[in-house]
Amino acid sequence: MFDETPCLNPEEIAMAGEWVNSPRMNRILACLPVEEYGRHVDAMEFVLLKRGEVLFDCGDKPAFVYFPTSSLISLTSTTESGSSAELAMTGNDGLVGTTLILGGKCATHKAVVQSAGGAYRLRADAMRFELGQGGHLLQLSLRYIHALMTQMAQSLVCNRHHSLDQRLCRWLLLYLDRQPGDKLLVTHQLIAHMLGVRREAVTEAAGKLQAAGLIQYSRGYMVVINRPGLEARVCECYRAVKTEYERLFDEMPEPAPARGHPPGPTSLRHAYEDAQAMLRKYTDIYNFAPVGYFTLNASRAILKLNLAGAILLGIKHSQCGQHRFDAFVKPEYLADLQQFQAEVLGGKCRGNCEVVLTATDKRPEALVRIEAAPDDNGRELHMVVIDITAEKTLHEREQYQRALLDNCPFMVWLKDKESRFLAVNAPFAHTFGWPSAEALEGRTDYDLTSRELADAYRADDRAVMASGEKRSFEEQIEMNGALRWFETFKSPVVVDGRNIGTVGFSRDITERRRMEAELRSLAATDSLTQLANRRHFLARLEETHADLLRDADHPVAVLMFDLDHFKSINDSLGHAAGDAVLRLFSSLLRDELRAGDLAGRIGGEEFAVLLTRSNPDAAAAFAERIRRKVAETSILMDQRRIAITVSIGIALMLAEDTTAEQALGRADDALYRAKAEGRNRIALAETPPPQQVFRGVQAAM
Ligand code: GH3
Ligand code: MG
Ligand code: MG
Repeated sequence: MFDETPCLNPEEIAMAGEWVNSPRMNRILACLPVEEYGRHVDAMEFVLLKRGEVLFDCGDKPAFVYFPTSSLISLTSTTESGSSAELAMTGNDGLVGTTLILGGKCATHKAVVQSAGGAYRLRADAMRFELGQGGHLLQLSLRYIHALMTQMAQSLVCNRHHSLDQRLCRWLLLYLDRQPGDKLLVTHQLIAHMLGVRREAVTEAAGKLQAAGLIQYSRGYMVVINRPGLEARVCECYRAVKTEYERLFDEMPEPAPARGHPPGPTSLRHAYEDAQAMLRKYTDIYNFAPVGYFTLNASRAILKLNLAGAILLGIKHSQCGQHRFDAFVKPEYLADLQQFQAEVLGGKCRGNCEVVLTATDKRPEALVRIEAAPDDNGRELHMVVIDITAEKTLHEREQYQRALLDNCPFMVWLKDKESRFLAVNAPFAHTFGWPSAEALEGRTDYDLTSRELADAYRADDRAVMASGEKRSFEEQIEMNGALRWFETFKSPVVVDGRNIGTVGFSRDITERRRMEAELRSLAATDSLTQLANRRHFLARLEETHADLLRDADHPVAVLMFDLDHFKSINDSLGHAAGDAVLRLFSSLLRDELRAGDLAGRIGGEEFAVLLTRSNPDAAAAFAERIRRKVAETSILMDQRRIAITVSIGIALMLAEDTTAEQALGRADDALYRAKAEGRNRIALAETPPPQQVFRGVQAAM
């Protein structure tokens, strides 16, 4: 049976003393952050526990919580009949007094010192206060209870399903893990009691381990000489328990915010409250930072994270210890991330990378930038994780907009209310000879063009903003010494009913204008003679008539010309010769015109001239000059000299005329008369109205 008499033999004292040095030897205490540890350590008391000492029995109210450093405590359960078995063992990996943590009044099991050694103990009331603070101690204690339950459950499974050899190995290894050194002060009897089997069976199983060179048994103690050998033999139960315990210490829980006051004098309490306020402040900053903070261990389990981090991953803040960061990363980014983390930890340097996190039920896939730095020991990784999905989307959208602007064949610009360029596109910068679109940001038209033009643009911008309406216009601008035509559109930009500036675009239409002018001229010109064609001449005649109605003080003369016997030239020399004569006559006519006069080809070899601001005398003199010039010109063709003459009719355009062509008709009548009277002569319109001051001009022959 279990030796219940507390005793401490010299060897035990030596062993215990050898290891007693600090509360940090207990792994729970070692895990506490410095500020919390500092708070407890003064309230703790070191005790040397003797083998067989009962810390509390079933039904007791535990007065202390024990944190073993070098002792090992067995938690046992005793049946009504008095037989007992071990539920679990606690060493430097835990605490004894779980009843207190779970809020129970009385213990439901017995705690017996199985291996003598040291422990630190905290009074039950101090422990209750600390638990009330909701700090790391509470979190660690609860997690320890979880691990303890795993140990109990695994023992139950193991005792039922595994061989005694395996169970013995498990028990020895668990024992070994929970106290320093490789020497176990145990008897076969004690082991039998703990495993709930007969002593002989333990002796047989221990004999096998000794024969295999794994342990050495002397009376009263056992030394493990080949630990890997034991590990190779043990069932999976040991590993399951061990993993749970490793997780307990690997993954530091996040404490809940502190509540209540510590016991003690007022000044101390104030200092404590200040410290708490400070802690809360920094906890808030940490938690409510708009970026995720993570602490990972080397295998990338999440040890710590803030609220933003938990939200980003879509996990509960309290569950961080159960997750590996990798699980949230899109598989194709994993290799890069792992390499990156290894570099940061290995190189002990800072770095950053971008990865995509898989979608959660709260958000779609997220692109994040990770900035990471190792801790002082290079064991943990501190990461700042920033969701840059929106930033990236915005950046991409900006790129699209930029591409849209730059690929637009027009110049585009955005101006603020003061006509400063907020943005312009590449064609704009190029047209004004600037190296880049960015270089123009913040500048104005005064930096690009002449003062007058810039003044005009500024006035346009103001007019557009004031009217709230679009404007478009065509303008000619001198650029690099050449005049170019631009078509410009300007619109106001209104946001929430407020004018914030203007947007404009402009395109070079110099070529279009040139082509339009060319087409217009082609449409108005007779191709053979390059004089105005009939349609254009008649249109100008109309306009002139309209002008005359407004301003009757400037008389207008209309002259008709017809080449004499032209048919015979065609007949004798051919059509081409006829054409050449038509061109010659046209050039003679053109040479005599002043600015504002117009000559046109009305029919085959019939021409008309419009003389503005011309009195009858001047018109007659003009006609006579032409007549004489033509008569004096002869053309040499096919070695034949060809003489040509022309007959001319003159009429004045009258304000009384209802149509412009009435004057043309009168000139034509006069021409007919000139032909009838023998050709190569000038005739004036026969019947000028009586009110018209018209001095007759005699035909000059
Ligand atoms: P007149 O006017 O003196 O009475 O005699 P005409 O020989 O000039 O007679 P008319 O005006 O009737 O004849 C005009 C001729 O001009 C007829 C036509 O063959 C010729 N003609 C008309 N258009 C063209 C043209 O574009 N090129 C050439 N080569 N001949 C043309
Ligand atoms: Mg004719
Ligand atoms: Mg003729």
